[in-house]
Amino acid sequence: MQTLTLEPRFTHPACPSCGNVFPIERITAGRSSSEAIGHCAFCKAATQILLPEKHKKLVYLDQSFISDAWDAMHSGSTNSLEHQIFTRLAALRERQNILIVVSDIHSLETSAIPDSAKRSGVWEFANHLSTGNIAGTWDDIYLLQQRRVLADLGTAEGFPLSDIGLDDPFRIRIGIQVIPTNRWRPSLAASTAQPKLQVVEQFQNILNSQEGSLGSGSTSADCLVLVRELWCKQLLEGISALKSRQTAVRRFEAASQSSADLRAAIAELMEAPTSPFLRIINQVVSDLAETALDQLHDLLLIDPTGGCACVRLMTAFEAEMLWAWYKGHGKTITNPDNLNQKYGRSRLNDFAHVSTFLPYVDVLTTDNAMVNFCRREVASKEVAAFQAKLYSKKSYPDFERWLDDLSVTQSTQ
Ligand SMILES: [Zn+2]
Repeated sequence: MQTLTLEPRFTHPACPSCGNVFPIERITAGRSSSEAIGHCAFCKAATQILLPEKHKKLVYLDQSFISDAWDAMHSGSTNSLEHQIFTRLAALRERQNILIVVSDIHSLETSAIPDSAKRSGVWEFANHLSTGNIAGTWDDIYLLQQRRVLADLGTAEGFPLSDIGLDDPFRIRIGIQVIPTNRWRPSLAASTAQPKLQVVEQFQNILNSQEGSLGSGSTSADCLVLVRELWCKQLLEGISALKSRQTAVRRFEAASQSSADLRAAIAELMEAPTSPFLRIINQVVSDLAETALDQLHDLLLIDPTGGCACVRLMTAFEAEMLWAWYKGHGKTITNPDNLNQKYGRSRLNDFAHVSTFLPYVDVLTTDNAMVNFCRREVASKEVAAFQAKLYSKKSYPDFERWLDDLSVTQSTQ
């Protein structure tokens, strides 16, 4: 088999024997992401094509952008800003100057779109933009970050792109891309959405109870300390529950055949305390050294965020929400939709996608209110640790300029 090395700016390789360009459908995947195989219809020979690396900017698109862009495409309003931005994104993606990241966090929001044609349309649109690379949720990323902190405690923290489902992202890709759509589909179809009123009530109860723990004259910094203490407390309960479970299991395994011993061991197993965080703690330490559980315990006592960027950011946003609640904003809102937007699931989804993806991407879109959140006192200190640019509807013209600048710099490279 002959081999040819693809030039970074030339994505149409030709057969080295006859010089005919391989049509896209005659290029298949190679043994690894760094190669592809071209099949010549004339020479009936296969050629190994070595694929070069190419740096790409990572652009995270949130539900509000995807939904607006879909609306713009389907209303035929080609002069809307969303439509223009979409056109630029598509061109840059085609030239492999950017990679678009979309997350599973939004599949719940997509599944809540009442119009079924729009629901599947938005889903297919998001899937197409990201070439089927749907990144995980906050929980998935927390797990990876916390495990990394434990595995090499004390070393600098990195944010490998494999965390968000991108393997070898800076590699030129040619030929037909098979889009693995099935992985994301079940979470889209799963109707896990609780009734809105119930969710809103749950959030109000949580905020009221947190507010009750704050004294009079508290500050936003006090809110941050409280939210982090609560997070840490739940994890410590999970650690303690897992330890009791492990001890009980060991006793059960060591119990002799005597029925009294076995009965006592079973009783201990049944009565072992449990915690909603037992499962996640179990996943965090799974396959790590036996000391990992104690390590996590000691680490949380020093740093309640466990050294995870996603926890630092999420707790800062939650502290800002609590601070607004504490000051009385929101208590006069009676419309459940409005409450959900500002102090409910909808706001938490914004917190989740920003706190999850900010460390990994170059650009992140979100809504106007979330950008304002990121500028508040406590949140801005955490957000400032990362270079990613945040764009929302209000700043879409800046987003468009950023894309134009990228087109210019990339085409002259
Ligand atoms: Zn040929």
